[in-house]
Amino acid sequence: MIKAKNLNKTYQIGELSLEVIKNFSIEIDKGEFIAIIGPSGSGKSTVLNMLGCLDTPTSGEVIIDDVVISDMNKHQLAQFRGQHIGFIFQSFNLIPVLSVYENIEYPLIMILNLPEEERKKRVLNLLKEVDMLDQKDKFPEQISGGQKQRVAIARALVTNPKIIFADEPTANLDSKTANQVIALMRKTQKDYNSSFIFATHDEKIVANVDRVVTLVDGEIVKDETRSVS
Ligand code: ADP
Ligand code: MG
Repeated sequence: MIKAKNLNKTYQIGELSLEVIKNFSIEIDKGEFIAIIGPSGSGKSTVLNMLGCLDTPTSGEVIIDDVVISDMNKHQLAQFRGQHIGFIFQSFNLIPVLSVYENIEYPLIMILNLPEEERKKRVLNLLKEVDMLDQKDKFPEQISGGQKQRVAIARALVTNPKIIFADEPTANLDSKTANQVIALMRKTQKDYNSSFIFATHDEKIVANVDRVVTLVDGEIVKDETRSVS
């Protein structure tokens, strides 16, 4: 479903050109639960952003469901992302002036432009799914980190994306909460047959995925598939 071919990313800093991703190629199938791991600065976020339509490679090709996304302009990328991809971040990225309910509803208004009744159905369903129905009128500053990440997961899922990217999604959570969040993402992957692609340091995530791709200095040094599910 996702194919990346010979991705390179180079940053130009004055005279210096910094090659942060080198010849990165990967194929990821529908329904995979996969982690990209590696030391800080090894290029995990850069790879995730290029696969997830947030950033474009300097050279190489990204193909999602037979659509070449690495040639798209910013506007086309945003459209494609909104319709096919969910993103979950370490720092949750909720909108502080919107309630829990409104945060989850937001992509349905801004991207999918769905009518009110359909929005309500989807948001309530996901609030139930992530066990946040009784918190729906609270604002982000009134809920815990674990609750915020559950809201962010619901927001990522509400558009029914086929692929969810999560960049260090448990880094700001205590280990009990992190385990609950991982279990919720695993359940979602199974229920919807969606793919989850993590960039992470977290051993708890690594212990729970089916495939681990290790990056060192922007290159894949190991790609290991196993069965934990
Ligand atoms: P990771 O997520 O594994 O910690 P990143 O993908 O964030 O790694 O970063 C990989 C490398 O690219 C690092 O050396 C980082 O400093 C560099 N980098 C990331 N973004 C930029 C940028 N906008 N300009 C210059 N260098 C960058
Ligand atoms: Mg990172």
